[in-house]
Amino acid sequence: QIGKLADQINYSAYIIGGIVRDLIIGRTNEDIDIVVEGNGIDFANLLAENLGGTVRCHEKFATATWKHPSRLKIDITSARTEYYDYPAALPNVEMSSLKEDLFRRDFTINAMAIQINEDHFGKLIDYFHGFNDIKQNKIKVLYNLSFVEDPTRILRAVRFEQRFNFKMDQQTFDLAMISADKIASTSKPRIAHELSILLKEKHPVESLVRLGEIGIIRYLIGTHSFNVQKLKTFKSLVDEIVPLQQNQNSETWVCYLVILFSETENEIELVKDYCLNNESLKVTDQIVELLDDNQNFLKEDTLGAIHHSLKNYQTESIICYIALMQLQECFANKLKKYLQNRTQIPKLIDGNDLLNLNIEKGPLFAKILLEIECAYLNQEIHSKEDAISKV
Ligand code: ATP
Repeated sequence: QIGKLADQINYSAYIIGGIVRDLIIGRTNEDIDIVVEGNGIDFANLLAENLGGTVRCHEKFATATWKHPSRLKIDITSARTEYYDYPAALPNVEMSSLKEDLFRRDFTINAMAIQINEDHFGKLIDYFHGFNDIKQNKIKVLYNLSFVEDPTRILRAVRFEQRFNFKMDQQTFDLAMISADKIASTSKPRIAHELSILLKEKHPVESLVRLGEIGIIRYLIGTHSFNVQKLKTFKSLVDEIVPLQQNQNSETWVCYLVILFSETENEIELVKDYCLNNESLKVTDQIVELLDDNQNFLKEDTLGAIHHSLKNYQTESIICYIALMQLQECFANKLKKYLQNRTQIPKLIDGNDLLNLNIEKGPLFAKILLEIECAYLNQEIHSKEDAISKV
């Protein structure tokens, strides 16, 4: 339908970028990008008029996002050329041809399009041999200054290497090494955006080791050496404990940065420059607090007593602390057991139960509820009745 609507106004229309790569690889991808040789915003409006949904325009970038009522979301751009005011700046946008648009992309594997107009439906546009590179598991830049223009592409190259088990070709790897220092003049939020995606993927430790080989870690954290064992300990704790949590939207990615920055004397606070939201800021603050704490909670014998000290700490903060301190097995096991048990604390009583017991609303509420949780962890109570009689 989209292709037919493009035909109606004589626009050539293509799906482009990551979705084409993933179609060839056979991987699902729900981010659909469409490029038209014409005005992307006008085309998005035409789609909405005919197929329903809403359009959000980004005039400055000549792009629009069309949201179909089925919740399908498609980004539509005008075939364009991007030029950079200075290395590491955001691109300015100017109308141009499809080939120009593809040439400005990061890697050959991401620089393909498939036409969706009715007469040419399914035609692969592959000026830079991305299809061959996919078949040969290769990550290749399109031009020599690619990493200089946008050093975050080095992070993306490593992401695709690890995700697909591909490798940069020698020339791309050499260009990455030569351009690594340019990351120092890239804005922290842009770096953080790419780093967060990279570190949320399946192989964060391998990715960081690879970034170390390229020599870019030094320009991110100020030193080139880092303790891989701590990163591995953290990753195995994440794999063991995070899946048990009800809320799995955790900020583990920022913990890898904390571990890296901990190598440079007391510089963990610098991680805050990369925190993209309050949750990651909170986790960073909590880890600093735990490291500054007198660590009495390690001496506690019962899970309830540990809960008194650690109730408000996020799981990722605590496991990052275990990894950073390289805690002895007995202490690590105690904290792991606490985290595992803490995910299963039921809500035995709530505020209404306390009101029914004639307890006045106020700070006492939180105190009582905490005591009930601690008693449950210590297996002193098991049911609502036990909890009420304890109150
Ligand atoms: P993912 O599967 O992780 O979403 P993706 O390739 O779809 O990967 P996006 O970040 O959504 O990644 O980018 C979409 C497309 O935009 C890419 O395939 C690539 O063609 C292009 N692109 C993204 N970032 C850059 C960049 N920094 N430089 C050049 N092209 C880029």
